Amino acid sequence: MNHASPSPQPRLLDARVPRYTSYPPANHFSAATGAAAYAGWLAALPPAEPVSLYVHIPFCRRLCHFCACRTQGTATARPIDRYLDHLAMEVALVAQALPGKMPVSQLHLGGGTPTLLTPAQTARLFAILAEGFDLSVAAEIAVELDPTEIDAARLDALVAAGVTRASLGIQDFEPRVQEAIGRPQSLQQTREAADGLRARGIASLNADVLYGLPYQTTASLHRTLDSVLALEPDRLALFGYAHVPWAARRQRLIPTEALPDGPARQRLFEAARRHFLGQGYRQIGIDHFARAHDGLSQAAIAGRLHRNFQGYTTDAAAALISLGASAISKLPQGYAQNAADTAGWQAAVSAGRLPTARGHAFSAEDLARARAIERLLCDFRVDLDAVAGGHAGLRARLAEAADQAVARLGAEVEMTGSVLRLTRASGIYARCAAAAFDAYLAEGAVPYSLAL
Ligand code: SF4
Repeated sequence: MNHASPSPQPRLLDARVPRYTSYPPANHFSAATGAAAYAGWLAALPPAEPVSLYVHIPFCRRLCHFCACRTQGTATARPIDRYLDHLAMEVALVAQALPGKMPVSQLHLGGGTPTLLTPAQTARLFAILAEGFDLSVAAEIAVELDPTEIDAARLDALVAAGVTRASLGIQDFEPRVQEAIGRPQSLQQTREAADGLRARGIASLNADVLYGLPYQTTASLHRTLDSVLALEPDRLALFGYAHVPWAARRQRLIPTEALPDGPARQRLFEAARRHFLGQGYRQIGIDHFARAHDGLSQAAIAGRLHRNFQGYTTDAAAALISLGASAISKLPQGYAQNAADTAGWQAAVSAGRLPTARGHAFSAEDLARARAIERLLCDFRVDLDAVAGGHAGLRARLAEAADQAVARLGAEVEMTGSVLRLTRASGIYARCAAAAFDAYLAEGAVPYSLAL
């Protein structure tokens, strides 16, 4: 890759494009694809092939101003007990539709705040999952962890459940930034969480950091990154703060006048990227960094990296089964999303129905475009011949998309033979290049987040 590229083109990066954790993006799912389709897809899975599992826990003690996740506040454990009651019903319904008790390759607990669960609730959650799935072969069990919402008993419960990896939500350690985003969290709390995990043998740690937050400067971000790196995480996620108050109402509490503008966001990203590379991390796709020994680095080197709703993964399972309110499953035939509101999800499973509210059945063209987008976001290059799989019509339409990428992005991309690649090592134009392959983009009036 060319490391001496000219300055970024701000106007291109001001584009609002999907993050492409799915293709098509979830706003293109429709109610026409519902529970009946999903049940058929589940039944068609090969019984011996491992599936990936995701469980959405939509509860938080606090609601941070910046967060656009589907979450709800709770001060007590009772709504979580009720949620687990309904999760048991959903697991039974999904297990009934499946051809057998499926082995699970990876399990991810996300939210919300999964570590809000009491030790007893964590044990119950895993017992519920074990009723419907074979967790004994899972190579990875990961949990999103809020360092302000954990203690020794809950750490012990995670270990007892078999958790192997934890993602520490950090965002920024600067007091002024934390106040503006409504997320107080001390370095001491975070260090104690990391130490507690390692002391119990959970050695694989991720840290999530945000750039583009109010009052963030390159100098302040460097201070945060130094503190984060002192925790010695194996992986880092460096997400750009997506200010979308029309979609996430609590973001109206963010002081917009203090948000960095487009060029400042680029400087923050580039500074953080250099910081991580300088400390021996390898860049993984557009927004992750990993140590050389980490599975993500190995997968990136071997061209086996995949992109899913959690970002990047080494998991090659053909099916992702997701449980809980708003959760999105991905099967070889398409996407199926559960009712987004907890009440609607609970009503469906209580009535003995799969809670699918909407979805999308893949066409052959969707799959080819999805492969092209995934390769661009994982490898910063895509071989159109490999993606088209010998189908001449698809190959021609992918070539048109590549031509559009070249026309829009100029020297930021390069076409050599059948391969389109980004010329800049940082991959900052990856989402813009991917957007050229998105056949749904023109249909959507949805204002996505900024390209960087
Ligand atoms: S950042 Fe985490 S703790 Fe804060 S509202 Fe979002 S999910 Fe909840």
